[in-house]
Amino acid sequence: MALLDIQDLTVDYGRVRALAGISLAVREGEVATVLGANGAGKSTLLRAIVGGARASAGRLTFAGEDITRLATHARLGRGIVLVPEGRRILISMTIEENLQLGAHLRRDGEAVRREIGLIYERFPNLGQRRHMRASCLSGGEQQMLAIGRAMLARPRLMMLDEPSLGLSPLFVERLFDLIGELNRDGLTILLVEQNTGKALAAADSGTVLELGRVLMSGEPAKLAADPALQAAYLGAAAPAPAAATS
Ligand code: ATP
Repeated sequence: MALLDIQDLTVDYGRVRALAGISLAVREGEVATVLGANGAGKSTLLRAIVGGARASAGRLTFAGEDITRLATHARLGRGIVLVPEGRRILISMTIEENLQLGAHLRRDGEAVRREIGLIYERFPNLGQRRHMRASCLSGGEQQMLAIGRAMLARPRLMMLDEPSLGLSPLFVERLFDLIGELNRDGLTILLVEQNTGKALAAADSGTVLELGRVLMSGEPAKLAADPALQAAYLGAAAPAPAAATS
């Protein structure tokens, strides 16, 4: 069953139509990826799912419920969580305070403390500096903190907007390992990425957006082998025998 089902979603910013009738589904337990060039509408799609951008047409269904008109905090309460581009952690607050922010809707303090402990076990760099300001962290560590904070909201669907942007190759590896681990633990993930190759390797399904429309969607292996996609997003170095002869 689809955990998230998007039907004919249209989003306008004034006269700019950022999404023009997008349909896609995210199945429970999968990693779904959304790819596309700058301005294709990827961030707008994620904003529309959390309720930060209004749908001018179309319908969003989450776990069988129509959420199209629900406010952002109500969607968060249903377990829809976004780790925005640029991470948006609060660098003047401590690492622990940032983590606690992720749990602000929860009333089970004991469980929150236990889960923060688990995050410190997973990321010792965060644990050792829990009372220091988040500004002391590297970009990669800040990304881990942003994901840890999102975990504390007990998400059913975690959306990540270009999480690998600006990270060192080592942290990109760690990030994709983490995405795999969280998914194996049962978390459904919607991943927007510029790193097309890595995203397709990590995903169970993929959707490519172009100028606010779905250009193609399907199995990652099929998308990765598509000559048009290779030419547009996987770089000239990618082998593209079909494209080379046409
Ligand atoms: P990027 O990778 O650059 O973030 P994207 O695929 O996420 O690109 P969006 O940011 O969703 O694309 O933008 C889709 C379209 O909507 C673009 O034409 C963009 O200029 C426009 N847009 C995005 N946000 C706004 C806004 N707040 N006001 C007006 N237009 C916007």
